[in-house]
Amino acid sequence: MTGVAIARVDPAGEIRPRRRIVGPARAVCRLTMAINGVDYRVEPNPAGPFDVRKAYRLRKPDGTAYDVALTGHGLTCDCPDFIFHRDGLGPDGCKHIKAMVAYGLLDRTGRKE
Ligand SMILES: [Zn+2]
Repeated sequence: MTGVAIARVDPAGEIRPRRRIVGPARAVCRLTMAINGVDYRVEPNPAGPFDVRKAYRLRKPDGTAYDVALTGHGLTCDCPDFIFHRDGLGPDGCKHIKAMVAYGLLDRTGRKE
Protein backbone atom coordinates (compact mmCIF):
# COMPACT_ATOMS: atom_id res chain seq x y z
CA MET A 1 0.00 0.00 0.00
CA THR A 2 2.92 2.36 -0.45
CA GLY A 3 1.83 5.83 -1.45
CA VAL A 4 -1.90 5.29 -0.81
CA ALA A 5 -3.81 7.93 1.16
CA ILE A 6 -7.21 7.01 2.56
CA ALA A 7 -9.56 9.34 4.40
CA ARG A 8 -10.78 8.50 7.89
CA VAL A 9 -13.42 9.97 10.18
CA ASP A 10 -12.09 11.19 13.53
CA PRO A 11 -14.10 10.93 16.80
CA ALA A 12 -15.50 14.46 16.25
CA GLY A 13 -16.97 13.42 12.90
CA GLU A 14 -14.42 15.29 10.81
CA ILE A 15 -13.06 13.62 7.73
CA ARG A 16 -9.28 13.63 7.86
CA PRO A 17 -6.84 12.23 5.36
CA ARG A 18 -4.77 9.37 6.64
CA ARG A 19 -1.05 9.68 6.61
CA ARG A 20 0.51 8.33 3.52
CA ILE A 21 2.24 5.03 4.07
CA VAL A 22 5.80 5.19 2.78
CA GLY A 23 8.62 2.72 2.64
CA PRO A 24 11.79 2.94 4.70
CA ALA A 25 13.98 6.00 4.15
CA ARG A 26 16.72 5.42 1.61
CA ALA A 27 19.91 7.43 1.41
CA VAL A 28 22.71 7.13 -1.08
CA CYS A 29 25.54 9.36 0.03
CA ARG A 30 29.19 10.19 -0.49
CA LEU A 31 31.53 12.29 1.62
CA THR A 32 34.24 14.34 -0.03
CA MET A 33 36.75 16.33 2.02
CA ALA A 34 39.03 18.95 0.53
CA ILE A 35 42.50 19.02 2.12
CA ASN A 36 44.86 21.71 0.83
CA GLY A 37 42.84 21.97 -2.36
CA VAL A 38 42.75 18.22 -3.09
CA ASP A 39 39.39 16.45 -2.90
CA TYR A 40 39.55 13.18 -0.98
CA ARG A 41 36.71 10.71 -1.00
CA VAL A 42 36.16 9.58 2.60
CA GLU A 43 34.93 6.02 3.17
CA PRO A 44 34.48 4.12 6.42
CA ASN A 45 37.12 1.43 6.67
CA PRO A 46 36.12 -1.67 8.60
CA ALA A 47 38.21 -2.19 11.71
CA GLY A 48 40.89 -4.80 11.17
CA PRO A 49 42.11 -7.54 13.49
CA PHE A 50 44.43 -5.16 15.33
CA ASP A 51 43.51 -2.57 17.94
CA VAL A 52 41.61 -0.35 15.50
CA ARG A 53 38.65 1.43 17.02
CA LYS A 54 37.58 3.54 14.08
CA ALA A 55 39.06 3.84 10.60
CA TYR A 56 38.56 5.67 7.32
CA ARG A 57 40.10 5.46 3.89
CA LEU A 58 40.84 8.75 2.14
CA ARG A 59 41.06 8.35 -1.64
CA LYS A 60 42.46 11.00 -3.98
CA PRO A 61 41.12 11.42 -7.53
CA ASP A 62 44.30 9.75 -8.88
CA GLY A 63 43.46 6.60 -6.90
CA THR A 64 46.04 7.05 -4.14
CA ALA A 65 44.49 6.01 -0.84
CA TYR A 66 45.52 6.54 2.77
CA ASP A 67 44.10 4.76 5.79
CA VAL A 68 43.56 6.96 8.83
CA ALA A 69 42.60 5.22 12.06
CA LEU A 70 42.08 5.59 15.75
CA THR A 71 43.88 2.76 17.51
CA GLY A 72 44.70 1.92 21.09
CA HIS A 73 47.98 3.76 20.52
CA GLY A 74 46.40 6.92 19.12
CA LEU A 75 45.72 8.29 15.68
CA THR A 76 47.65 6.84 12.76
CA CYS A 77 47.88 7.33 9.01
CA ASP A 78 49.75 5.31 6.43
CA CYS A 79 50.80 8.30 4.32
CA PRO A 80 54.56 8.87 3.88
CA ASP A 81 54.46 12.16 5.78
CA PHE A 82 53.07 10.50 8.89
CA ILE A 83 55.30 7.42 8.67
CA PHE A 84 58.57 9.25 8.05
CA HIS A 85 58.06 12.63 9.74
CA ARG A 86 55.22 12.60 12.28
CA ASP A 87 54.77 9.19 13.90
CA GLY A 88 55.78 9.48 17.53
CA LEU A 89 57.26 12.95 17.02
CA GLY A 90 54.23 15.16 17.53
CA PRO A 91 50.67 14.90 18.73
CA ASP A 92 49.09 16.62 15.74
CA GLY A 93 49.87 14.07 13.04
CA CYS A 94 49.72 14.61 9.30
CA LYS A 95 47.28 16.75 7.30
CA HIS A 96 44.91 13.78 6.94
CA ILE A 97 44.66 13.29 10.70
CA LYS A 98 44.28 17.02 11.31
CA ALA A 99 41.42 17.21 8.80
CA MET A 100 39.61 14.17 10.19
CA VAL A 101 39.86 15.56 13.74
CA ALA A 102 38.83 19.05 12.62
CA TYR A 103 35.61 17.66 11.14
CA GLY A 104 34.89 15.36 14.08
CA LEU A 105 35.28 12.08 12.20
CA LEU A 106 38.08 11.00 14.55
CA ASP A 107 38.68 12.03 18.12
CA ARG A 108 42.11 12.69 19.66
CA THR A 109 40.94 11.58 23.09
CA GLY A 110 40.44 8.05 21.88
CA ARG A 111 36.78 7.82 22.72
CA LYS A 112 34.64 5.47 20.70
CA GLU A 113 31.89 7.49 19.11
ZN1 LIG B 1 48.39 11.17 6.45
